[in-house]
Amino acid sequence: MKPTLYLDFDSTIVNSERAFCEVYNQDYKNHEGFVPAHEEHAGDWVFRHACPLIHQHCADPVAEVRRIFGQEAFFNHLEFYEGAYETIQALKEEYEIVICTSASPENGSKKVLWIEQHMPFVDEIIILVNKSNNGVGKGRVHMLEPGAVFVDDHPANLRSTEAERKILFTYNDRITDYNRGWEGESVNSWMTLHGLLKR
Ligand SMILES: [Mg+2]
Repeated sequence: MKPTLYLDFDSTIVNSERAFCEVYNQDYKNHEGFVPAHEEHAGDWVFRHACPLIHQHCADPVAEVRRIFGQEAFFNHLEFYEGAYETIQALKEEYEIVICTSASPENGSKKVLWIEQHMPFVDEIIILVNKSNNGVGKGRVHMLEPGAVFVDDHPANLRSTEAERKILFTYNDRITDYNRGWEGESVNSWMTLHGLLKR
């Protein structure tokens, strides 16, 4: 039996920051004080630095962030990180490919359709709708199969499961508010990850 490769989705397979900033730029461009958002300034999940108008104008910024993540436009802007698609397709020969991702109801339903359309070869999709909004619900998925590998851009997610091998993904060595302090394996590109996981 092939070992299981668990893959996070946002900011691991796809450039969610870039897509989020594109939607923000479209929605907020006519607001006073607007400065175009750039993915490089997106170092926290509520986009405090990259998209400050959300925090100045919205009574509930978290709800607004969730609204943007649930927009059709967000998914239209979503792109694979360089080499992600090719690597996952190649590793499918050697691993059972499971996507394990946190979502809101609006975002989760569209995300499944996006994955089906762009990566129909994925074996299974686990969507965690974490209603407490603490952003860390993956501990519910224990990943106990022998040889299980888990790749995520969030150390708290990696720590919360029992996967045999845990790899932090930091696209281009990006440092965020949440990815510091990881002592385990890490990679900064899909090409490096492919080299590590080839059997
Ligand atoms: Mg992620």
